[in-house]
Amino acid sequence: MEELSFMIQGDSEGYVTFECPFCHSEFKLQAGEFQDDDNPVYDLWCPYCGLTADKNNFLSQEVKAKAEEMAYNYMVEEINKAFGKMARSINRSKGIIKMTYKPLKKMHGKDIVEKDTVETPFECSCCNRHTKILYGIGKACAYCAYCGVTI
Ligand SMILES: [Zn+2]
Ligand SMILES: [Zn+2]
Repeated sequence: MEELSFMIQGDSEGYVTFECPFCHSEFKLQAGEFQDDDNPVYDLWCPYCGLTADKNNFLSQEVKAKAEEMAYNYMVEEINKAFGKMARSINRSKGIIKMTYKPLKKMHGKDIVEKDTVETPFECSCCNRHTKILYGIGKACAYCAYCGVTI
């Protein structure tokens, strides 16, 4: 299966929402820093509880729903192609069986558009990347999402 990819549009400063798989708190990361090819990100730390996991575990519900939609649509397309081909070849042959095939419909979810939020980003003194923390937690108990140090 080919890789499915889609763009998530960040807010006006390029921040995208992530959700911690452990405490389900949301935070935002800068899309350009998160998707930096020179400095690839594999694991993320939750800025609230400090636990770490593979970055794919931090996708927000919205992004996960979008990914499921894309996977579903890909499958629908493949099924439609396969059945369409089958129907055409059956119908071309001179047999008595005719096949009609009604293509499956694709899902059309809404695009993900980030809303601007008022929180200021924290800059990590270790990696200089930014984490936007949404729930106004004191700076003393927040962690850098990239390297897990206290910011
Ligand atoms: Zn957490
Ligand atoms: Zn850092």
